[in-house]
Amino acid sequence: MEQEFDTAKERVEIIKRYRALLRSSKSKKKSADSLIIRKAFDMALEAHSGTRRKSGEPYIYHPIEVAQIVVDEIGLSTTSIVCALLHDVVEDTDVTLDDIESIFGETVARIIDGLTKISQVFDQTSSIQAENFRKMLLTLSDDVRVILIKLADRLHNMRTLGSMAPHKKQKIASETLFLYAPLAHRLGLYAIKSDLEDLGLKHTEPEVYETIETKLKKTKSVRTRFINQFTLPIKRSLDESEISYDVKGRTKSIYSIWNKMQKKGIPFEEVYDVFAIRVVIDSNPNKEKADCWQAYSIVTDFYTPNPDRLRDWISTPKGNGYESLHTTVMSPTGKWVEVQIRTKRMDDIAEKGFAAHWKNKGSGTESALDEWIRKIREMLENPNIDAVDFVDDFKLNLFTKEIFVFTPKGELKTLPANATTLDFAFEIHTQVGEKCIGAKVNHKLVPLSYQLKSGDQVEIITSKKQKAKEDWLKIVVTGKAKSKIKILLKDGKRTLAKIGETIFQRKLKNYKIQPSEENIKAILEFYELPNLLELNYRIANDTVDITTLKKHVQENGSLKFDEPKNVEKTLKQIVSTVRGKTDQLVLGENMDDIDYKFSPCCSPIPGDDVFGFITINEGIKIHRVNCPNATQLMANYAYRIVQAKWTSQESISFLAGLNIKGIDDVGLVNEITKVISNQSKINMQSISFESIDGVFEGKIMLFVQDTKHLNNLTEKLKKIEGIHNIERVDTN
Ligand code: MN
Repeated sequence: MEQEFDTAKERVEIIKRYRALLRSSKSKKKSADSLIIRKAFDMALEAHSGTRRKSGEPYIYHPIEVAQIVVDEIGLSTTSIVCALLHDVVEDTDVTLDDIESIFGETVARIIDGLTKISQVFDQTSSIQAENFRKMLLTLSDDVRVILIKLADRLHNMRTLGSMAPHKKQKIASETLFLYAPLAHRLGLYAIKSDLEDLGLKHTEPEVYETIETKLKKTKSVRTRFINQFTLPIKRSLDESEISYDVKGRTKSIYSIWNKMQKKGIPFEEVYDVFAIRVVIDSNPNKEKADCWQAYSIVTDFYTPNPDRLRDWISTPKGNGYESLHTTVMSPTGKWVEVQIRTKRMDDIAEKGFAAHWKNKGSGTESALDEWIRKIREMLENPNIDAVDFVDDFKLNLFTKEIFVFTPKGELKTLPANATTLDFAFEIHTQVGEKCIGAKVNHKLVPLSYQLKSGDQVEIITSKKQKAKEDWLKIVVTGKAKSKIKILLKDGKRTLAKIGETIFQRKLKNYKIQPSEENIKAILEFYELPNLLELNYRIANDTVDITTLKKHVQENGSLKFDEPKNVEKTLKQIVSTVRGKTDQLVLGENMDDIDYKFSPCCSPIPGDDVFGFITINEGIKIHRVNCPNATQLMANYAYRIVQAKWTSQESISFLAGLNIKGIDDVGLVNEITKVISNQSKINMQSISFESIDGVFEGKIMLFVQDTKHLNNLTEKLKKIEGIHNIERVDTN
């Protein structure tokens, strides 16, 4: 591997990047600080030596760049730089926390410990709920620098996401959009927040991103001309007022434009506030408010403000420290334009959070930083600190007890936290809930009990054969779903009891038991059940084994029997009854009066060659022609064989199993589920994989319609790289 890279050139590049980091951190650094940063750099360089990132670059580029972000974009200082440089060593290399503590002291060790734990818990788990994420951040991070460095880490990973495998990209990017970006927002790190959002969108919806990017480029010159004309009178007037200022047009981030298009259902062309005008003034700390309002007065001298859209976050700053004065005014061309007025200090805080401000002011003492950290902790601990903010941006649900999910058409549904796919199905419609067998969440198949997260897009999968079940009550959390399921269960019980009654009557006949009141009473006593309804219901849902009745009958003379007949005679009678009704079974067609079952020994599905075998007590059993028992049955009991074929009309789902063998690969399971979920009308019941020494074996249980359908899928699965063998297996 090594010789493929120009390591000499890389060494020069590493030193170059390291020097750039030192320069950024230098402004007010003592030499002691430089020394400790150097030590951290040396340790990281040594520990990561020989390892490379997915892109092929030396691994050390990553911690250096994370440290650079920590300095430039968050404004933290020495301790955080040291931690950023070392953030991956405990997790990925032989360096231990004790090593770190002995060289860099307790604070650095504690922060690195927090960072290691976060990545262990968070990066490895496929889905973590937002609320848990917040709790974890709180418990793991005694020191908020853990969170800030984690954000820098994530930002650099997002900037270098290009070389990751597509499914990993998707996971990391969506996680970024739903957890990290709102967190950055919450902490007042607006520049990082919008960077994370744009990068997140770029990798989750590349086409959307590109379209908006192109449109922004195309409209740039028109926009610049408009902004120049619009700001001209404001600038002239500000010049006369002796306020020193900077006025510029700020284009919105691609993500927030897209967000607006989504929320309002409008095309790019109709987003009126693609840009805002920002007036940043140099102001004396005790004149800030007056100066900002003076600037406001100048702006509104030229343009009429919309009174509904005045936001004064100077008198009452936002919970995360954001201060600014926003107004929307009417331009001469009839377009609304947002104008943001703030001082240089406010602008710094808005872009980089408090830390940048402390740093720029030169008051970068530990106590000032501590003060800021204390503020952030308060904010994390108090979710309701700024309720109005939440309404503005639903993604901030990071701190609420509700989640927001979408229908396939993009309709928003609000559910309580912990709500499952089944809750969602009942939220849509009772019938959808009743027939729900699973769902696709963000295009991936999930079970009924899957806990939804904010931002999930949920497509419910239904089946005509599905019925409400008792244990559903444990899966749902909404009152609506619970009460609907209870009603359905009651209805279902009566319907089921009818089916059970038929079975029961037939059994009585088979066992030659008279259906007398006396006999029924004895049977109920035997099963310890209160009434016939309950018995019939339980027979139908298989919670009572009616065959045990036979044993009871044999051992206990308390039941009155019909005249005993010999078995041979009974069998002949059954065979002739069946033959009298039909000479060929058509499976799947409505043949109520003929009792047949699919034999569990070979689990036939439509399309299989099958035959029926007449049994004495269990009606006709359907076997596959190539069932291991078939030859014996056909040879010895030819007169009991009934021809059978499948109807082509009705579409019922059948359970089939596939055994898959291949060479282990991280993306393989994902590939397999993707192929299955792309195949229409196939639903997965379960999937289990086991991997030993790089060879994996998996079993997938699927609901398919027939063999053709199943073969089709098998062919597609065989094409996946890494899969060596696929076999049909029995379902039990
Ligand atoms: Mn990292």
